[in-house]
Amino acid sequence: MAKEELECSFCGRKKPETSLLIAGLDAHICDRCIEQAHGIVIEESKQSDDSDLSAELILKKPKEIKGFLDEYIIGQDNTKRVMSVAVYNHYKRLLQPQSDDDIEIQKSNIIMVGQTGTGKTLMAKTIAKMLNVPLAIVDATVLTEAGYVGEDVESILTRLLQAADYDLEKAQRGIVFIDEIDKIARKSDNPSITRDVSGEGVQQALLKLLEGTVVNVPPKGGRKHPDQKFIEVDTENILFIAGGAFDGIERVITKRMNMQAIGYSAMKTDDIDKDNILKYISPRDLKNFGLIPEIIGRLPVLTYMDPLDAKTLRAILTQPKNAIIKQYKKLFEMDDVEFTITDDALDYIVDKAIEYKLGARGLRSLCEEILTEAMFHLPSSDETKLNVTKAYVEDRLNKSTLKTLKAVS
Ligand code: ADP
Repeated sequence: MAKEELECSFCGRKKPETSLLIAGLDAHICDRCIEQAHGIVIEESKQSDDSDLSAELILKKPKEIKGFLDEYIIGQDNTKRVMSVAVYNHYKRLLQPQSDDDIEIQKSNIIMVGQTGTGKTLMAKTIAKMLNVPLAIVDATVLTEAGYVGEDVESILTRLLQAADYDLEKAQRGIVFIDEIDKIARKSDNPSITRDVSGEGVQQALLKLLEGTVVNVPPKGGRKHPDQKFIEVDTENILFIAGGAFDGIERVITKRMNMQAIGYSAMKTDDIDKDNILKYISPRDLKNFGLIPEIIGRLPVLTYMDPLDAKTLRAILTQPKNAIIKQYKKLFEMDDVEFTITDDALDYIVDKAIEYKLGARGLRSLCEEILTEAMFHLPSSDETKLNVTKAYVEDRLNKSTLKTLKAVS
């Protein structure tokens, strides 16, 4: 073929009309068709990624799931084990082929009970990160029964759709973390609290979502109105994780345990770990606290978070993959500053976090208080080292808005 007659075998453009024409054995391809083909390859591989998701999920055994959680979350061994098995079973259920033996594996929605700042949200986030599935974090306190001021429970699914970039398939395999589930408990012994009615109403509204149903979801959120287009979301394979502090539930647990002890020789009181009463939690305690039995039934995996002691807080500062101190090191490094912190300075920060009852969440605020001045000043100075000692920490905290921190506690 004469040179000027060369053309793209895909689109037929003549060589002069192209920027580039690549020759194959018997054919040619132009730059535009290469780009288009590249686009198709990317698109296709995305789709096959989706179908590979199943293969990827099943490959993670409970021990591997726990291993992943260990990298990001300190302690909470019991919850990590329980979660690993629940998540494994959940996705196993999701991947089960249609069988004719009538055995239907039920959903393993989870409920985590533990003080605020002990890592409940972190647990849900880490699981979602590991599985590469979308995660919606919602606060149960903003949910109300349809017709009341607040958000309908369907808004949970709007959030999940948003987290999945409106990819319905992905959303339907996602995770929803419902925080502060304890705040919608029925407070039957206190009829003066107006929240009661809607609290129970929200629980009722949540039921169908938890169990698995097809819900009409307004894609942009907001109230439902007749001429709005809906997306039908099937919640059958969505994993729901609920979390709450359940303030005062220790009393409920102790009371039940005392009753049991009177009934027959259950556990000797000496054997009871009084510092961690939560570990004895049972579904009955949730019911006594004010969750309706149907909700408890649909959150069959119950687990508790250990309170964070000084040793754990200390580890949280430095050990997890994206530990707070590692993050500051990186930030300073970007300004060519070598950031170090002494052991007694870390211990002091932990002591303060405990003193102000700020838990793990407080570690971050304390570090900000301590390091903001240096982060302001060092980038424009010639200094290349910052060694934070206990004296430095004391000095910064004395000068800082400690009062604000105290107010938080
Ligand atoms: P919760 O949901 O129980 O109130 P979060 O998961 O929001 O608590 O935890 C608050 C912050 O504290 C997290 O961002 C995390 O950095 C830290 N944190 C809490 N518990 C742990 C833990 N066990 N391991 C590592 N970090 C933790």
